[in-house]
Amino acid sequence: MSERAAIYPGNFDPITYGHIDIIRRARKLFSHLIVAVVAHPHKDPLFAAEERVRIAREALAEEGLDGIEVIRYDCLLIDVARERDVHAVVRGLRANSDFDYEFQMALMNRDLAPDVETVFLMTAGEYSFLSSSVVNEVKMYGGGVSSFVPPSVERALEERFSRGSS
Ligand code: ADP
Repeated sequence: MSERAAIYPGNFDPITYGHIDIIRRARKLFSHLIVAVVAHPHKDPLFAAEERVRIAREALAEEGLDGIEVIRYDCLLIDVARERDVHAVVRGLRANSDFDYEFQMALMNRDLAPDVETVFLMTAGEYSFLSSSVVNEVKMYGGGVSSFVPPSVERALEERFSRGSS
């Protein structure tokens, strides 16, 4: 794949305007962007991997962001990068909570694959405290989240919570 391709990995449980902000910024720097949804995150996700992929695709289409590939992966991120011949990983940085973890992951990935560079993009101020887990918590108790996620994502959350805890 071209030198100007990048992978943006994460839980995307579900995708928010914070993620979408990073995707818009990354698209200006890279000609091809792969949003990679991790199948088995550390903590139990609200949505299954296939649902997170579907919700992300729908949200990106709704936001007019076409040409962005959304895949699911279940292995080391670096193996996805190798398989796709991609040499850049994009990560988003929020107010202050992300830095330590991101630093560790970037150095670990650099050790595993010195030819892959991690690029950090800073989110817009308005999304700098936004996380999927906060959105999920608000929605679980019936709050509106339209400032934080596209309408299709809010609908997916409503359906998810009407299904109960399964
Ligand atoms: P979370 O579950 O904490 O919201 P993800 O694993 O889905 O995070 O995040 C994937 C990547 O997107 C990470 O680099 C994370 O820092 C970044 N990210 C998540 N939310 C935002 C946001 N509101 N602004 C900028 N980057 C974000």
